[in-house]
Amino acid sequence: MRAIPFGAPIIGQEERDAVTEVLGGTQLVHGPRAKTFEHDFVEFAGGGHAVSVSSCTAGLHLAYFYRGIGPGDEVIVPAQTHVATAHAVEFTSATPVFVDAEARSGNIDLDLVEAAITPRTKAISVVHYLGLPVDMDRVNAVAGAHDLFVVEDCALAVGSRYKGVHAGLLGDVGSFSFYPVKHMTTAEGGMVLSRHPEIVARIERQRAFGVDRQLGERKMPGLYDVTMLGYNYRMNELQAALGVEQLKRVPGFLEKRAENYSVLADHLRGIDEVDVLASASEGPFQSSYYCLSAVLDDRTAQRRFDIINVMKSRSVGTSIYYPMPVPHLAYYREKYGYSTETYPVAARISNQSIALPVGPHLDGDDMEQIARTLKAAIKETSP
Ligand SMILES: *Cc1c(COP(=O)(O)O)cnc(C)c1O
Repeated sequence: MRAIPFGAPIIGQEERDAVTEVLGGTQLVHGPRAKTFEHDFVEFAGGGHAVSVSSCTAGLHLAYFYRGIGPGDEVIVPAQTHVATAHAVEFTSATPVFVDAEARSGNIDLDLVEAAITPRTKAISVVHYLGLPVDMDRVNAVAGAHDLFVVEDCALAVGSRYKGVHAGLLGDVGSFSFYPVKHMTTAEGGMVLSRHPEIVARIERQRAFGVDRQLGERKMPGLYDVTMLGYNYRMNELQAALGVEQLKRVPGFLEKRAENYSVLADHLRGIDEVDVLASASEGPFQSSYYCLSAVLDDRTAQRRFDIINVMKSRSVGTSIYYPMPVPHLAYYREKYGYSTETYPVAARISNQSIALPVGPHLDGDDMEQIARTLKAAIKETSP
């Protein structure tokens, strides 16, 4: 039986050559590759404007920074997400106001959003959880009614589309992640995508000290002015070179993910103790198939870590997306006084699910092995 890691970057000779070429030159930042990557990403998404950044988190921060969100403001944040979705709000000293997940998919429960809005609410963030797009018509309707800025956390959404429109182009601005276990990698890195050119143009300055001219735009070396506050959130040329090559592989990656997911979901259908979180494409919702989340029933979930350990001992890698609802993490619990009784749906997903890999580093036989191992682990750990 071969090892089945949860995630494994697929780096080929093309990536190696591209990175080596950058190292052989003199331009490690501010070069042509970041521009090419941004251009190619727009082409892949089918529209909009893009600017590369150092991580998805940096991109999310820039979205709020662009909008001038700060102390006293509130931002709606899904409870079931990576901590980065909320931290990006905290960076600005605004307050994240968490909304529980819907049980079916783990996406933000849009029935609960209206009740979380106050006169201080300035923005709403959504995460396309495990790659299944949120119902953005509903999000935009609420946002329109309350004049809210819409930020999409697209960390798991390379290839996610709603009504044919790529994630990141549905709200006001989206941020993608190229961290190694995501859909494609630049080691660390991210991309801000938006249908609004003026947002991307300003964020492009704000990710680089607020300088008014990029290196290539300066008539005289060293001659520039700073017209606004800005961070150092650029992507370098080594990362961008990786990104250009990785992006070429993404259509194939997405196909493989969809195929693996469907095979694995079929295999799991026979296991009574397991419910599969809805992350597959349906109707207007096109998924990017980040992983398959197997939700254990209440009784079986009590021995989840034993099950995970058995799977690990048989070389089947798993993960948990995400280990706690964000408001239950110590930082948020202590700062805002959340009890662990809150956000029950997000908590159930955190406490009872096992994330199973469907990445392009795996094939149909691996899916069969994952399902078989999960089934055996449930049986063997049974009291
Ligand atoms: C991974 C992840 C992030 C963080 O991405 P980085 O590129 O590491 O900053 C943010 N949000 C979600 C939903 C993620 O899964």
